Amino acid sequence: MRAVLLGPPGAGKGTQAARLAERFGIPAISTGDIFRANVKGGTELGRAAQEYMSAGALVPDEVTNAMVRDRLAQDDARKGFLLDGYPRNPDQGVELDTMLSDLGVRLDAAIEITADIDEVTKRLLKRAQIEGREDDTEPVIRKRLEIYATSTAPLTAYFEGRGLLVQVDGMGDVDDVTARLIAAVDSE
Ligand code: ADP
Repeated sequence: MRAVLLGPPGAGKGTQAARLAERFGIPAISTGDIFRANVKGGTELGRAAQEYMSAGALVPDEVTNAMVRDRLAQDDARKGFLLDGYPRNPDQGVELDTMLSDLGVRLDAAIEITADIDEVTKRLLKRAQIEGREDDTEPVIRKRLEIYATSTAPLTAYFEGRGLLVQVDGMGDVDDVTARLIAAVDSE
């Protein structure tokens, strides 16, 4: 399976991506996790991404696209992958198409985890207390949700137009959401 996961920050993409990846035996590739690891490791990529991330802004496309292209070319992604956090705007969507056609493969599904904005804001603020992520403060969360609405949400229509969109309700119990996702993917 080759799929992308869409949904607002706090919808549970990371949690669900890890579970689905295990279920289907493919890597979950989270651009946010890769960036955070690079920031922590003090790499050049981390330095290029840090200021954008802490402001809740998107890292520039050239940086992000190059990183994803490299990651998708690795061996473990040959049989499939689940992308979490990419694409995040329509230009990245077009770029993903180019990458996949260069690899000679096609996307099977774009899975959107839908979530109520009040609920995700609550979840993110709660996570802030537990994980202490720098971008989980209220003004930065607001900024991330704004960018989601203006830049990322339009991708839903892009994938729907290509017959790839699968929407799954992300509200409620984590296990229930996983079960819904697996059922949705299996019926594809
Ligand atoms: P969330 O979905 O909760 O906002 P992520 O871990 O997916 O968190 O992303 C954290 C940050 O990493 C984003 O706010 C952004 O700065 C950067 N980032 C992640 N993916 C992308 C991407 N595809 N394009 C640009 N920036 C990205």
